[in-house]
Amino acid sequence: MKKVLIVRYGEIALKGLNKSYFEKKLMKHIQANLMDLGKLRVHQGGGLVYVDMDGYDEDEVIERVIKVFGIVSVSPAYGFEKDLDVIYEAALEHMKKRMKEDTIKTFKVESRRGDKSFKMKSPEISRMVGGYVLEHSKDLKVDIHNPDLMLYVDIRDKAYIYSKKIAGHGGLPLGTNGKALILLSGGIDSPVAAWMMAKRGMNIEAVHYHSYPFTSERAKEKVIDLARILAKYCGNIRIHCVNLLPIQKEINEKCPEEEMTILSRRFMMKIAEKVAENRECNALVTGESLGQVASQTIQGLTVTNDAVDLPVFRPLIALDKVDIIDISKRINTYETSILPHEDCCTVFLPRRPVTKPRLDKMLKSESNLDVQRLVEEAVENIEVIHVSIEE
Ligand code: ATP
Ligand code: MG
Repeated sequence: MKKVLIVRYGEIALKGLNKSYFEKKLMKHIQANLMDLGKLRVHQGGGLVYVDMDGYDEDEVIERVIKVFGIVSVSPAYGFEKDLDVIYEAALEHMKKRMKEDTIKTFKVESRRGDKSFKMKSPEISRMVGGYVLEHSKDLKVDIHNPDLMLYVDIRDKAYIYSKKIAGHGGLPLGTNGKALILLSGGIDSPVAAWMMAKRGMNIEAVHYHSYPFTSERAKEKVIDLARILAKYCGNIRIHCVNLLPIQKEINEKCPEEEMTILSRRFMMKIAEKVAENRECNALVTGESLGQVASQTIQGLTVTNDAVDLPVFRPLIALDKVDIIDISKRINTYETSILPHEDCCTVFLPRRPVTKPRLDKMLKSESNLDVQRLVEEAVENIEVIHVSIEE
């Protein structure tokens, strides 16, 4: 008897000709996520992926595999030869094991016959297996409508028995939809935005702005910690750290105070676009949400957006803060995001920031600055930090 993790993938299966390309990517990412545990065999067949788990801790394997995008659900299962007597015994043994773990009074068997040469049809398999289990465990009853436990029997290349289906995050395998550059702050929103775009198959790089020495080393550490959590889903992440202070000083000197936030956000976008160009990223991603703060009004977003030509994705644009917080808790970034840190945006914070900036007015203010030189200097002084999946 072999212990395996059955991995189901959804949307990928619809990709027709690209199917095998998507499957290969998926298997590669499963393997990468498991690397720190050892070299587990990952293989495929009949529209499913299997991870051989003999000798490994089931929970640890699941915790890592479930983070791979493209997976709809997983089931820890036993695989063995397609012999009826063996199936009966395995089903009974599995039931006994589960009854020790949980209070189970009722059950139902559901069978699937992928291998059509198997002599029994699925309803009959269910009936026979159910009958055998009932016969050997006195307290159990069958409940076909609302059972405490579903016992699944799949007849494929082997016979498989399992009783748990654990939901994955869905989405598409990493690297099947280009590469994005996320503007990653230490806040709640941008890590969620990065995660959402990675879920749709985008590889992720990050750019982070600080105002050192006005902001501390700890603020940077926090972003690295967030990237480490993201890396478990998104793979290795390169963080481009940019000191925005020289630019902020210049804006502070030469532009109206209330325009500080919006003008520095335009610089953030311009610098990010240069980095994206150098690193062959196809899009910028931000954690902006409509109306959330003064700089995220429709006018604010319009002025920010105008700074660049590259597509800017804002996956949180229509989400409420509570919904964003829910996701950040689910993906485990929340606790780190809420640690106190100084944001570069709070340096030279205007007392009353403009909430309805006009593009022509902003462009006029910007004309007091040597934008191109400031952007180039910022890019030249970038410090790159590599965050790896295994840390
Ligand atoms: P977050 O929670 O992501 O920090 P926020 O609600 O604080 O977002 P803003 O400060 O207006 O909103 O920032 C909007 C977006 O701009 C962020 O989601 C992020 O993508 C980007 N951004 C802001 N500050 C930084 C920074 N210091 N480094 C990199 N990107 C930043
Ligand atoms: Mg912020």
